[in-house]
Amino acid sequence: MFLEVIVDLIHTEVDKIFEYSTNDITVEVGSRVFVPFGNKVIEGIVVNKKETSEYPKERIKPILRVIEDVPALTKETLALAKNIKETCFVTMASALRLFLPSEMRKGKVKEQYTSEYFINDGANLEEMISSLKKTAIKQKELLEFLSKNGRVDGVELNKHFGASAVKGLLEKGYIFKEKTQKLRSPYGEIQTDSQTVNLTPKQILAVKSIKETDKTVTLLHGVTGSGKTEVYLKLINDVIESGRTAIMTVPEISLTPQMLRQLRSRFGDKAAILHSGLSSGERFDEWWRLRNGQAKIAIGARSAIFAPVENLGLIIIDEEHDGSYFSETSPRYSTVSVAKFRAEYNKAKLVLGSATPEIETYMLAQNGEYNLATLPDRINKKPLPNVEIVDMRKEVRRGNNSPFSRELLDGIEECLNNGNQAIIFLNQRGYSKTVVCTECGHVQKCTDCDVSLTYHMEDNALLCHYCGAKYKMIKACTECGSPYIRHGGAGTERIQRQLKELFPSARILRMDRDTTQNKEGHFKILNEFSQKKADILVGTQMIAKGHDFPSVTLVGILDADMSLHFSDFRSGERTFQLLTQVAGRSGRSDKAGKVVLQTYSPENLVLRQAIRYDYEGFFGRELSIRKATGFPPFTDIVRILIKSQNDQQALDITKALYTELNEIYIKQRERFRFFGCMKAPLKRLQNQYRYQIIMRLVKPNFDLLKTIYYTQDKYNGRAVTLSLEINPNNLT
Ligand code: ADP
Ligand code: ZN
Ligand code: ZN
Repeated sequence: MFLEVIVDLIHTEVDKIFEYSTNDITVEVGSRVFVPFGNKVIEGIVVNKKETSEYPKERIKPILRVIEDVPALTKETLALAKNIKETCFVTMASALRLFLPSEMRKGKVKEQYTSEYFINDGANLEEMISSLKKTAIKQKELLEFLSKNGRVDGVELNKHFGASAVKGLLEKGYIFKEKTQKLRSPYGEIQTDSQTVNLTPKQILAVKSIKETDKTVTLLHGVTGSGKTEVYLKLINDVIESGRTAIMTVPEISLTPQMLRQLRSRFGDKAAILHSGLSSGERFDEWWRLRNGQAKIAIGARSAIFAPVENLGLIIIDEEHDGSYFSETSPRYSTVSVAKFRAEYNKAKLVLGSATPEIETYMLAQNGEYNLATLPDRINKKPLPNVEIVDMRKEVRRGNNSPFSRELLDGIEECLNNGNQAIIFLNQRGYSKTVVCTECGHVQKCTDCDVSLTYHMEDNALLCHYCGAKYKMIKACTECGSPYIRHGGAGTERIQRQLKELFPSARILRMDRDTTQNKEGHFKILNEFSQKKADILVGTQMIAKGHDFPSVTLVGILDADMSLHFSDFRSGERTFQLLTQVAGRSGRSDKAGKVVLQTYSPENLVLRQAIRYDYEGFFGRELSIRKATGFPPFTDIVRILIKSQNDQQALDITKALYTELNEIYIKQRERFRFFGCMKAPLKRLQNQYRYQIIMRLVKPNFDLLKTIYYTQDKYNGRAVTLSLEINPNNLT
């Protein structure tokens, strides 16, 4: 037998199939194997088996061994990897890595085993004890202990009775030892509950619609608090009962514990969690539980879509509009595209859930390409929370320069007096956004990036939020030496401090990237807040999504304009989504909720639509703008980013590439809605100068895209690197 192997090296030169012989070892397709490669031994994946090879026998080396008994990849995941290789323009090795926990490669983590000891069922305890020496008290106690407790872990026995007693009884054949795998299970302290709910008639209709449609994809469009989760749980339940498996993704790691709790409550250890916040041992064990079929439901952030389950019956992508579903690093895959592939391959159902669907998703649902199921009302029958718009320009004119309007402070006070909870949202972490000299106006900047530094009081340091560089806080302006420094723009750290001063008796938690660094950090904060151990939660967009806190009756949005002023074509859509999501955290149980939204542009149409929860109105206008201006979903935006430490070299390559692409453009002009070349909005990042070529291509365009990809890839080199992004989320 001959094996076709992809070696685990990411380089275009080795991006091909290498042939090995089996050496009479039984190997299945999808298995990981060790193979000789040059003068090294490396890991590879068997992608095919065959009887004959075109290469001369003596040139084919045998594999060394198979790494695991169960093939890590299935036929389906191999096919999917090939699809990702072709559509995301990456090497096969890099596509395959998506399917394996990184710690599995290079054997960094292994299964953990423990030894359990027990007495054989049929053995006679009295006989064994009477045959022991009178002095062997420990052995006697050990036997009695085991007969009472059944199977006991070796560590515990050694501790209580000593290793020699254990050894002695083993040698006599009185007790037996068995090696069992010890699973490292994340979020052990999650409380499950056995509450069951009866679905509402609307939820029942939604479930029915999803199960009965002949379409693969259903958009579940339900307002915040409409009970989408119960619909998901019912669908998962039915799929599991029919013997198939399910994957569910949520947009943020912080949302996984909440969902895991619900899944564990209903499905016990059939649910497994996959995300990068777990310890490597936990991730490894959860992955294998899914792979060997012990677990049937995978839950996690984006990467859970690659879960190694077979016989998939259902995929749920909750908050499908969320930007985190696009990978910003290579392979730049879209979670929804991967999900579609898997759903079609398995003849499974794919459910995209959202209160604010992505424009393209909603368009496809209206076209009839997707099935559309809706949950138009909140479960508690309450209207969506009332949003009060506060014009911050008026506050400034009134002499209020603080980040809080009068309305918001009154709202917080009332909320606290009633024993309820408040959420204060601001999409800026740190203490102050900028540090400015009041004498000369100089703004402290990162030496490696073209961005201003954020002050973090807890570290007393200036941080670059783009490259992570950390600088000492200055005592005086680095330009003119003046000691008068002003903090411009508040971040969550400052807001928390100011609230503490204003409401000294309130317990305030903060959730942002800085407070969630530790393992299960999100979980701890959210848990505390949901157990009402705090009154106010201050946070970034991490707190905007999905969370269900019944006692929250007030949401304050400090700066609703932040994302409106980005020059991205999606800024309106992002703002609408974010505001709807944040507002949706308020008034979710029997208590009515309220939202105070602070803005400097109260007349903005998107804000107006968002506070009326007018998704249809927003969608209609947005779609016609996109159509008129030739933006997605009517075109694909392609950006080629050219980066180098040497500004001139970057510029030269940009010009050369532009000239070459221009020839394609001239020949196929009707397929382009835009073609241009410019400095990137962020001109320098991590000490690299950045240029970009931007195109908007009419759909379908895969052939053209491929030509463009290979044209630019030729210019990739040591000094200048290029990358191609399709509809990037982030155009900095
Ligand atoms: P969404 O995800 O649509 O924002 P959730 O699924 O979080 O909404 O549901 C909102 C609240 O309604 C939750 O507290 C949930 O427990 C409750 N809920 C959902 N369905 C029902 C039901 N059929 N009966 C009673 N309560 C429900
Ligand atoms: Zn100065
Ligand atoms: Zn930087």
